[in-house]
Amino acid sequence: MSVIIVGAGLAGLTLAFALSYLTQGKKDIKLVESIKPDKFLHPNHNGRTIALAYGLCRKIDALNLWSLLDPIATAITRIHVSELGSGGFFSLDASTYGIPFLGQVFELNQAKKIFFNHLEKNKNITLYCPNTVILVTQYTDYILIKLNNGEKIKGDLLVAADGTSSNIARLCGLQWKKRDYQQIALVTQISTDLAHQGQAFERFIRNGSLALLPTSRGLSSLILCLEQEQMKTMYNWNDKEFLTYLQTIFGWRLGKITKVEKRYFYPIESCTRVSTIAQRTVLVSNAAQTLHPIAGQGLNLGMRDILTLTDILISAWKTGKKAGDFSTLKQYQKQRIIDVQTTIDFTDLLVRIFSHPCSTLFIGRTLGLMMINDITYLHNIFIKRSIQ
Ligand SMILES: Cc1cc2nc3c(=O)[nH]c(=O)nc-3n(C[C@H](O)[C@H](O)[C@H](O)COP(=O)(O)OP(=O)(O)OC[C@H]3O[C@@H](n4cnc5c(N)ncnc54)[C@H](O)[C@@H]3O)c2cc1C
Repeated sequence: MSVIIVGAGLAGLTLAFALSYLTQGKKDIKLVESIKPDKFLHPNHNGRTIALAYGLCRKIDALNLWSLLDPIATAITRIHVSELGSGGFFSLDASTYGIPFLGQVFELNQAKKIFFNHLEKNKNITLYCPNTVILVTQYTDYILIKLNNGEKIKGDLLVAADGTSSNIARLCGLQWKKRDYQQIALVTQISTDLAHQGQAFERFIRNGSLALLPTSRGLSSLILCLEQEQMKTMYNWNDKEFLTYLQTIFGWRLGKITKVEKRYFYPIESCTRVSTIAQRTVLVSNAAQTLHPIAGQGLNLGMRDILTLTDILISAWKTGKKAGDFSTLKQYQKQRIIDVQTTIDFTDLLVRIFSHPCSTLFIGRTLGLMMINDITYLHNIFIKRSIQ
């Protein structure tokens, strides 16, 4: 029987390819996606770039997938972290850690398109698209799903990789806990007088944060997270007004900011699930947990879900077990719990500390940033998250 994956985002596609590669195409994989590949410029992902940590890029390479992303990726060799209005900063250099880069940046829609086209080379993966699941029936030994076109698919395991508003989680009654940061993310690309030279910047500003990631064509990708009210006033700004504001909050580390591309606005969603497993069902990546983008950890964490699930399924198959046995799913959940919780806590801590206008905290976090090179704990967290 097959493994059914719902959601052909980067997480779902990576899982499908990983299982296929490690079983030499011997496993039957069904992939259900609601948006047609030819329209695969996912409206929710316009303008969004992703930074994937060094360690993950290597693991994806071991699955024979990095060569697909490499042509569209830009290496991060240095990360500079600072706060507006304070002298506090620290930086991480790939060379200090003896690695060629700290992470790689690519455009999400582009990456998904490339992965989608790669499906053609995997004959054991059957794509159902554009389709959605309208019914899930969970049995002890198998799972049955019904698609919107009436077709039924039987499998050993159902993997929900269908993103934040996971329909599968809803159909299986898996509850979520939502956190509303009341912030909006603005994403776009900017041109600067000075070349980025592989540098990424994380800058904490009053009531929000700003990240700049180096991308191809010498541009930098901007992710600006601010309170809803502040962002609302920005909706109507023209490019000149926006550039002036951006220069003020970012400073001159890349010289003059000369041009801004189309700006996209996204409400910041954050949610975690009470449980990520049910009978013959497992939730992964954004379907399992959606993080504030402040530390760029969402897909990194999601990819670690995928890698762990892949390892566990391959081991289970080797010992003759079925893919969706509850003991296997329990093992998966147990193995993921610490990494997931630490990453959620770390992200949440950053949002709370750096979104708070209170001046005592401001002094505290400034001192924190100034001392961070000596504070092994925080420094290690940043480094671990960068190269993991
Ligand atoms: C502004 C911003 C910047 C970010 N930057 C980073 C970063 O630098 N690094 C990082 O690690 N993370 C980052 N993230 C988070 C990252 O984008 C997400 O974690 C990641 O895209 C999640 O991938 P996914 O495959 O789990 O979900 P999605 O990409 O949401 O994919 C879900 C798929 O399921 C499909 N689907 C949905 N519903 C159904 C249904 N009912 N039936 C069938 N199919 C369905 C969708 O069409 C989609 O293709 C950022 C997020 C934001 C908002």
